[in-house]
Amino acid sequence: LDIWSEEKRSEVMAAIRSSGTKPEVELHRIVKAALPRWSVVQHAVSVPGRPDVYVPSLGLAIFVDGCFWHCCPKHGKTPKSRADYWVPKLAANVARDRRITSQLRRHGFGVWRVWEHDLTGPRRAITESRITARLKGRVAR
Ligand SMILES: [Zn+2]
Repeated sequence: LDIWSEEKRSEVMAAIRSSGTKPEVELHRIVKAALPRWSVVQHAVSVPGRPDVYVPSLGLAIFVDGCFWHCCPKHGKTPKSRADYWVPKLAANVARDRRITSQLRRHGFGVWRVWEHDLTGPRRAITESRITARLKGRVAR
């Protein structure tokens, strides 16, 4: 039994998607604050996989993985209704993440993946200091 009409489902999906916008903005803010004079690109369309944040001078692509869409081990859950729809869809997302990561690494990019839950709520501050330290470490080299 499908509890949602096509229309309702796309509404629900749009809501989930737009709630994922904030961690991306947060990530960009953190990277920009750590590298104030550097170019830090948001949604780098010219880089495979369209990283949420890209630092051209470091060749560093950073992705925010939404807990739902990328099957976070802590919060990722397959919806009980329409499992035939969601299981392959979410599995394809995870497979795509792996493919993009290895493709970028093969081409010499640095790739970092950050969980949405590390950029929201109580973990936000620790994530910010880790990312900042890592970036400063890169720049110092
Ligand atoms: Zn999570």
